[in-house]
Amino acid sequence: MGQDEFQVISKYFRRQTKDSAVLLGIGDDAAVVDMSGPIVVTTDTMVSGVHFQNETSGDVVGYRVLAANLSDLAAMGAEPRWCTLALTLGSIQDEWLSGFSTSFFDLADQHGVSLIGGDLTRGPLVVTVQLFGVGKEDCLLTRSGGNVDDQIYVTGSLGDSAAGLSLIKKGIADVSDEHRFLKNRFLRPTPRVSEGLAMRGIAKAAIDISDGLLADLGHICESSGCGAVIDVERLPLSTELLALFPSEVAQTFALNGGEDYELCFTASPDDGTAIEQRLESLGTKAYAIGHLVDQPGVVCHRAGKPFIPASTGYLHFT
Ligand code: ADP
Ligand code: MG
Repeated sequence: MGQDEFQVISKYFRRQTKDSAVLLGIGDDAAVVDMSGPIVVTTDTMVSGVHFQNETSGDVVGYRVLAANLSDLAAMGAEPRWCTLALTLGSIQDEWLSGFSTSFFDLADQHGVSLIGGDLTRGPLVVTVQLFGVGKEDCLLTRSGGNVDDQIYVTGSLGDSAAGLSLIKKGIADVSDEHRFLKNRFLRPTPRVSEGLAMRGIAKAAIDISDGLLADLGHICESSGCGAVIDVERLPLSTELLALFPSEVAQTFALNGGEDYELCFTASPDDGTAIEQRLESLGTKAYAIGHLVDQPGVVCHRAGKPFIPASTGYLHFT
């Protein structure tokens, strides 16, 4: 007890890095890395009471904030390398911090990411990570590279995270493996970093699904100057989701639910087999759910007919 910020930093955050590109890490006024090539930078903030419930344990917050950043780099086809962490805490609670730093570093280690600096201040609980990655010239994935007639793919399964969050919010106990699975998809989503790297040079446009498929595919369409038609019956839904929710509810979660952190990308219709082969070794599947069209907007089809889904994605200010 009674620890100052420097003790907290050395106890929970200062670690040796194996990355020789890090010339100076934690401990100076700024960190220094030595790198040539395109540096890809992203940042994500999580605010207590907005992005997670106030009583959320440190290990969940530490994992999710880094996962969100990793997912952004995945969508760019970049290799994550270094991050900074700005922590605003109401007070110093060892149990929370210890859970936070353990799961943060577990995930960082899985992806070869070094924590090279940060900030620690007092105030309402807010966690910000800035993540730096390295891209390959001419191989960066962006939202704007889509072309009319591209196939639209999504990885993994959609809607699990939103369904898991709904179970958590309702306080429903883990009465089955399906409950546990869905909650875990919200609490510990898998950023598709290797998949993003594998899609370099083949995906035309890409985005990670953080605000819901319709919203995020909408961003690809706007940036690429086109529209999309998707068939909701081709959305990948997990058996766990379908076991606990009627299929129309599951589809709504898949269309609008945020924070799946799957990838949505487009590719030439000729590249279906190549995509499958590249993802196979990663144990991931990508599902073709529709295609890009020249008419703007995202149109959903069900049983061959257009329909208007219940609502759109998560907006922060409305
Ligand atoms: P300054 O006041 O010069 O900004 P600080 O006293 O805030 O430096 O931080 C001391 C060192 O510890 C810096 O190298 C900073 O990057 C690092 N640091 C501070 N907070 C964190 C944190 N939450 N995680 C990792 N490193 C941190
Ligand atoms: Mg500082």
